[in-house]
Amino acid sequence: MSDAPVIADPAVADLIDREHRRRAGGLQLLAAETPPSDAVRATLASGLGAKYAEGYPGARYHGGCEIVDEIEELAIARAVDLFDAQVVDVQPHSGSAANLAALAAFAQPGDPILALRLAHGGHQTHGSRANFSGRWFQPIPYSVRRSDELLDYDEIRDLALLHRPRVLVVGSTSYTRPLDYSALRAIADEAEAVLWVDAAQIGGLIAGGVATSPVGHADVVTIATHKVLRGPRGGAILAPERHRDAVRKAVFPFAQGGPAMDAVAAKAVAFGEAGTPGFAAYTARTVANARALVAALATHDVRVVSGGTDTHFAVADLSRFEISGVEGQARLAAAGIVVDKAVLPFDPRPVVEGSAIRLGTVSLTVDGWRETDMATVAEWIVDALSAPVDTSDSSGRHSRIRAAITDFRPR
Ligand SMILES: *Cc1c(COP(=O)(O)O)cnc(C)c1O
Repeated sequence: MSDAPVIADPAVADLIDREHRRRAGGLQLLAAETPPSDAVRATLASGLGAKYAEGYPGARYHGGCEIVDEIEELAIARAVDLFDAQVVDVQPHSGSAANLAALAAFAQPGDPILALRLAHGGHQTHGSRANFSGRWFQPIPYSVRRSDELLDYDEIRDLALLHRPRVLVVGSTSYTRPLDYSALRAIADEAEAVLWVDAAQIGGLIAGGVATSPVGHADVVTIATHKVLRGPRGGAILAPERHRDAVRKAVFPFAQGGPAMDAVAAKAVAFGEAGTPGFAAYTARTVANARALVAALATHDVRVVSGGTDTHFAVADLSRFEISGVEGQARLAAAGIVVDKAVLPFDPRPVVEGSAIRLGTVSLTVDGWRETDMATVAEWIVDALSAPVDTSDSSGRHSRIRAAITDFRPR
């Protein structure tokens, strides 16, 4: 699809054009950011978002919903097939909106929820004080182990039996290792807690068959459709039949009004694409690229949290450069390399600075980069991190890397 700007509004058109050029002019390594497929983009531009359709297929509060009913049913049927789920709600406007509904479906204000500590990779919707989840529920944090930065299932069990949380929350923005869903199910059963898996990051990997699925173990699974899945910005909720009513009521009318039907149609497209062999191959290449990048960084003595990755991203420890995550992000940005600053579990620096960066391989993979290219990517990263930015020298290290990136063609 072309990137033709909206000429009716030159101010906005110019900004869109500049943003497209910014993206094309650098190396995009954000873990969560993936270019949507062309078909998804076209669907989002369809104008379907104008249709009002509060409610669910066959039970709407507005007239003229016959066709959008079919669209939503198609999106649901494809997701049911893709994830082998019994119930799917495709209406959440975002991953966070899906998470709000997941908690609303199973917990009451004041209930304890057991979730991974924010600084160890939990999401703000898992009990951060700044979020509804920490304001309305009583968060009890669990941690990764200091020795290997892996989840400690014994600690999770101990805390679950001690605090009897209403909900046990699993899923992370930065944990890159497989989760043991049978162990978590057993803990939830023993503590009589609901098991909620927030698979926002890895929903696409599950769809592609390169990550284990929590479906069948969890009471509820939330995903984001705009991350590895390459769909529209949005969320979805997967659940077993016994939770159909609770989940639906928590989305509409509890958390949302009318669904965005353009996004629902685009989700149908994305779920369809995610069922193809081409998508499975893309997810496998994405994980292979992430592992190759981790291995290449290791040759430069840069370690990643938990010693590796089984996903599309990794968290790199910047201790060897003696700089913060904020400084690392700035040095890389000067070289045209776009990353997130991140925190280490047990980070000695304050959370706003961090001592790490998070690197993802989804965008690179979509753009055709392969495992053999990752040694070069690691060299650029290490080179850019190795010295402060010298703004007075336009032919200096960071400009040189930026030029090399622009000239590079993946093999
Ligand atoms: C991205 C993410 C979310 C939220 O997604 P939004 O669509 O940005 O609201 C929730 N949980 C986890 C673990 C995530 O990584």
